[in-house]
Amino acid sequence: MPIRFTVLASGSSGNASLVQVDGFGLLLDAGLGPRQLAARLAAVGASWQEVQAVLLTHTHGDHWRDRTLAHLRRRRIPLYCHTEHHDALRSYGDGFSGLEADDLVRTFAVNEEFVLAPGLGCRAFALKHDSGATFGFRLEQPGSLFGDPAALAYAADLGSWTPELAGALADVDALALEFNHDVEMQYASGRSFQLIRRVLGDHGHLSNVQAADLLREVLRRSAPGRLRHVVQLHLSQQCNRPELALAAARAAVAGADIEVHTACQDTPILTVSIGPSRSRKRVRRSVSVGSSRARQTAAHPMLPGFESSDAI
Ligand SMILES: [Zn+2]
Ligand SMILES: [Zn+2]
Repeated sequence: MPIRFTVLASGSSGNASLVQVDGFGLLLDAGLGPRQLAARLAAVGASWQEVQAVLLTHTHGDHWRDRTLAHLRRRRIPLYCHTEHHDALRSYGDGFSGLEADDLVRTFAVNEEFVLAPGLGCRAFALKHDSGATFGFRLEQPGSLFGDPAALAYAADLGSWTPELAGALADVDALALEFNHDVEMQYASGRSFQLIRRVLGDHGHLSNVQAADLLREVLRRSAPGRLRHVVQLHLSQQCNRPELALAAARAAVAGADIEVHTACQDTPILTVSIGPSRSRKRVRRSVSVGSSRARQTAAHPMLPGFESSDAI
């Protein structure tokens, strides 16, 4: 079965993506309320019933909600997080303590593979970000008689990158990577000096230029033709524009057969499908705001619960 990856929401008002493999559903971050997540899942033909685990990158408030943790407890869905996340998760409400009480907290260690589901391995790698322990993930499906191995890497919320990180992201079929801001827009934003310095710092967020440079290095380290999809994550609504992020990524992958997709805050944008399938490495696009081959498409209609990031 292929790995299917769908960004449900991406940006500073809430982040969540859905990974599906052979009936197993994983939420990568859960930074929306449970009803908003239900609406986003429904928009891509899924539901909470298909979510069997949640995996947390870090504890900034746009990546988890206490009410959503309480919802996980009601649905008996385990939360995978790092032990260094525990104190922060406990400090904002009772959701995490409830998961602990019901033995629904799973932990992962950095750079050690753990199994999320049969046929789906995961490895966490550290990212430089000002939230304490922050992680990206590499999800892998082994090859079989029916197809090649498939791999997806996810890295958002990082202020800088290293050659080691480029190595961790290399040789995947799909790479989801933060393209947070345009540096000139950041300086012209009217934001406080402290906030601008924080975002631009080594533990803030990746600019379009930084992300494109990382993408070039990932490509240089990858087998030719392996990377097929780049999904741009966590674009700043105030300090970036999809066309700027898209242009930066397109320049980085120029000459390669790679589709670039740009995630957004308010709608699920696409499902990328990689690995064994009837038509190998195909893409089913739900809604896309940008793609290197395809055009701007109509935005998805607003759904109940989308109006405010505070709505549950
Ligand atoms: Zn974030
Ligand atoms: Zn963050």
